[in-house]
Amino acid sequence: MYTRILLPTDGSETTDRALEHALDLAGRYDAELHVLYVVDATVFANDVETGTIVEEFETMGNRIVDKTSQQAADAGIEPAQTTVVRGTPHERILEYIDENDVDLVVMGTHGRTGLDRYLLGSVTEKIVRLSDAPVLTVRESSR
Ligand code: ATP
Ligand code: MN
Repeated sequence: MYTRILLPTDGSETTDRALEHALDLAGRYDAELHVLYVVDATVFANDVETGTIVEEFETMGNRIVDKTSQQAADAGIEPAQTTVVRGTPHERILEYIDENDVDLVVMGTHGRTGLDRYLLGSVTEKIVRLSDAPVLTVRESSR
């Protein structure tokens, strides 16, 4: 049923919880786990200072996917691929789903930047609406 599972991550705690679900499913279905962090290029102004800021975000992205890889490896699952790209998060995530034949997306209901009163974060909302692959959304904690 599932052969390639994508965990898009922004390094938030909610994503950690989504990771637990992704790991369990990857184990049960013997599926590949893919991890993707998008450096959100929409927040950067186009000026001379931008280069170093983007690089810092890229470094942070690499740290986030490395940490996720380590957590996965600790649970016995070596991610098939970890990726850090620049762009608009939901566009890059949708592209990744298409290009890699992802057949399940596991992600947090919310991320780093949003307000809890919204039912879903804006990235997750767009993936739920636009992804061909089914999307499993995971809330941070029961409350
Ligand atoms: P908003 O960004 O709309 O203000 P939010 O940060 O709470 O609100 P989202 O950004 O939609 O909500 O985050 C929900 C989930 O989307 C995260 O748990 C993560 O799985 C994914 N996500 C968000 N941003 C990125 C990103 N830059 N790269 C990869 N995945 C992301
Ligand atoms: Mn966000």
